[in-house]
Amino acid sequence: MSEGQKQIILTGDRPTGRLHLGHYVGSLKRRVELQNSGKFDEINILIADDQALTDNADNPGKIRENIINVVLDYLSVGLDPEKTTICVQSALPALHALTFYYLNLVTTARLSRNPTVKAEIQMRGFADEGLPAGFFTYPVSQAADITAFDATVVPVGEDQLPMIEQTREIVEKFNKTYGETLVLPKAMIPENETQRRLPGVDGKAKMSKSLGNCIYLSDDAKTVKKQVNGKMFTDPQHLRIEDPGHTEGNVVFTYLDALCTDEHFVRYLPDYANLEEMKEHYRRGGLGDGTTKKFLISVLNDILDPIRTVRAHWENDIDTVYDIIQTGTAKAVERTNATLARVRKAMRINYFEDRSIVKEWERLLREAKQ
Ligand code: ATP
Ligand code: MG
Repeated sequence: MSEGQKQIILTGDRPTGRLHLGHYVGSLKRRVELQNSGKFDEINILIADDQALTDNADNPGKIRENIINVVLDYLSVGLDPEKTTICVQSALPALHALTFYYLNLVTTARLSRNPTVKAEIQMRGFADEGLPAGFFTYPVSQAADITAFDATVVPVGEDQLPMIEQTREIVEKFNKTYGETLVLPKAMIPENETQRRLPGVDGKAKMSKSLGNCIYLSDDAKTVKKQVNGKMFTDPQHLRIEDPGHTEGNVVFTYLDALCTDEHFVRYLPDYANLEEMKEHYRRGGLGDGTTKKFLISVLNDILDPIRTVRAHWENDIDTVYDIIQTGTAKAVERTNATLARVRKAMRINYFEDRSIVKEWERLLREAKQ
């Protein structure tokens, strides 16, 4: 199939809050690199507002508010609307139709096995309160998002691997049932292990908007300092500077693993050539948390400063931002409608594409009479 040969990216985010460092290392940074590599025929980024409603049905205002925050974060990190289509999920009707068809190709038993969804159900208290069917089935809607764009590559954090696996199963089932129609996508996760799932400042498993343990891309320098100095989990056994310390599970070092380069040492901490040397000193004893945190703050601001500058520009031009997502969404409507037409044809439910079915029905009626 010709679409299969094109290199197409689809990825996105739920507009449930501003984007944070976890998003940056897990997905955003990669997106910008891929965008600028020139190796892709199409890059599509979806603001998944419908998916965000599956666990925020009582608070659509929160989603509405965060659409602008997420787009500003995109533009600030260097996503370029000339090269990348930014679109809003709820305005793409083809996605709803595809979801409806795909729901018939998965079992509830299969959906129950998704480890990410299982963890999220616990985290959101749905195990006690009752589980919204929409939330339970959101991996199916994600399969619709990915396949609607004929995506071959999906750059995401590690927590999304079960979603891509589920999508691949749906694609295989669809193609087996209705003939080769959908493109089989591949997940692309960061090579750096720490970047795949950045923990929160509190050391909890994942930095997450819903857990309130984030450093946001839009945080100012004062807030970053407060988060690092006030909240960041280090090594509880490292009481005096001369004590030997642990770097494993120490969030300051985890963040440095994900973010710092040798260049940062040249600039901000020339006592060490690289992170390994600094870690060795910490493990030996004699290196205090004050120094490690100060270095981390410098690294963070080094990364965040250019993002803040671009953000300030776009914040003053929300009219243009509106045009960007309106244009992107209009393009995505066409794109995804074309896939839906292909799907309906494969499923033989394209009744109103032309009148050929009239002849078919007439023939069937004739045959039934014979
Ligand atoms: P929510 O709590 O509302 O689910 P979230 O912070 O998990 O929000 P999503 O919008 O669900 O963010 O995720 C968007 C993308 O960012 C996904 O590709 C996901 O894998 C990635 N991502 C989110 N958090 C992290 C993290 N802490 N480390 C690495 N990647 C992450
Ligand atoms: Mg999430």
